[in-house]
Amino acid sequence: MRFRDVFLGIVALWLLSGCAPEPQMLGAPTRTFPTRVLAAITSTSLPALPTTSVVPSGCGDAACGDIPHYELDASLDWETHTLQVEQRVRYTNTTAHTLASVVFDVEPAREPNIFALAEVRNGGRPVRNYALESTRLVVPLLQPLDPAASVQIVLRYTLTIPQIQNGYHYGHLGYWGYSARQVNLGMWFPLVAAYDPVAGWQSPTPHHVGEHFELAEGDFFVRLRVRNAPAGLRVAGAGQVARPERDVWEFSLEGGREIALSLSPDFHTLTTTADGVRVMLYYLDDPAVKIPEAPRHALQTAADALALYSELYGPYPYTRLVVVMGDFPDGMEFSGLVFVSEAWFRLWSGTPDDWLTIITAHEVAHQWWYALVGNDQGHAPYLDEALATYSEALFFERYYPELLPWWGNFRIIAYEPSGNVDATVYDFQSARPYINAVYLRGAQMLADLRLTLGDEVFFAWLQAYCAHMSGRIATPRDFWGQMSPDAYRATAPVREQYLRQPDVLAASDRIP
Ligand SMILES: [Zn+2]
Repeated sequence: MRFRDVFLGIVALWLLSGCAPEPQMLGAPTRTFPTRVLAAITSTSLPALPTTSVVPSGCGDAACGDIPHYELDASLDWETHTLQVEQRVRYTNTTAHTLASVVFDVEPAREPNIFALAEVRNGGRPVRNYALESTRLVVPLLQPLDPAASVQIVLRYTLTIPQIQNGYHYGHLGYWGYSARQVNLGMWFPLVAAYDPVAGWQSPTPHHVGEHFELAEGDFFVRLRVRNAPAGLRVAGAGQVARPERDVWEFSLEGGREIALSLSPDFHTLTTTADGVRVMLYYLDDPAVKIPEAPRHALQTAADALALYSELYGPYPYTRLVVVMGDFPDGMEFSGLVFVSEAWFRLWSGTPDDWLTIITAHEVAHQWWYALVGNDQGHAPYLDEALATYSEALFFERYYPELLPWWGNFRIIAYEPSGNVDATVYDFQSARPYINAVYLRGAQMLADLRLTLGDEVFFAWLQAYCAHMSGRIATPRDFWGQMSPDAYRATAPVREQYLRQPDVLAASDRIP
């Protein structure tokens, strides 16, 4: 790292932290930030998809492992925006308890007249005493399920896809909805609820600010048939993809939190490679986009971000990363697929100091802080949002160091953020105060932690946390508990400044 970059980095960290650090605290960063990845962006036409099925015909005990294994046969009617789904779930009891039921989180059921459950079967036999209350579906088992034993549950249901709403307040939920030119299937099917060893099955209360999901890891296989498909329809989705028939697409994603798809007859694609991962952008060719290079910039940003975060946090978990221009505000993260709003493409100014860069880098960071390391997004949203927001700073620090002070002012300082970083989404009724407290103050907190610990300890901590909690659901105790006792003590003033419950490990025996 050149001296100028170090200086700019220090300036930005100072801006972020909101206080002037003593110079001797900074030390010389030991981590070098080399030049940006100059990935070759290729192809504007979608390569032919393999026609060999990626969906296994069945799932034996040996093939499935311990995490839930989902197979969905879905039929989408493009004209009526309805989906008929048969969903087969193989669930292995990884808890220490014998279970009388399996609980699902059914996000599409948060609104009425969307999710219509037609049939539940357990081991081939019908289950009639199931209960769906809000988004919580309880499926009583015909026989108690002992630890390590497995059960198959089949759900048949119809989904009526909602229209994406205008405005941010409801429009930002457009990852599940349709517009005139796009159908988005995100959080669209029942997922086995997370299980807490003490509290049992977890059923997050839906909330209109932020996300409230708490998702266990699973393997996902989707076979999607589209009836009345428009000419030129393309389907974006995570994982391996195949197209065994003209109107059938198959997706296979192992070790995801969910699987999301996006469909449009107006999609164009750009592809590149970063760190051995295929990065694909699906974008809508919109004449309102001011700068035609916007898609290329978004793809380059995603590829650069993937390379950087792989280096800083740990390997990217999938073979592909799909970025989709979403016909709804803001952006949204899913396993192996992220949405970036059409607005950020449309309004892009042509230079990297813009929302298109910020949001793309942010959503890609969620592949580590959400997809790889899960969390209770409702009650501890800073575990993914603060890290994703601070990752934006790391992105600028690496690739556009001269813009790091701009990022600090534009993204953080301009909002004069206040509030507790460890607030829950339920503490807020609108997005701005939530973002200020959890995202922006959260990024400031991480900048202060880096200043306190130094680069080497700070990044080693994040890497260890990522490796340790990969595939699991992390809590604040997991996050802070991954620090050494000395580091935890040294960072107490930072927690005092930002958290309403600063002594996260108070009850832990890790700190003597
Ligand atoms: Zn985010």
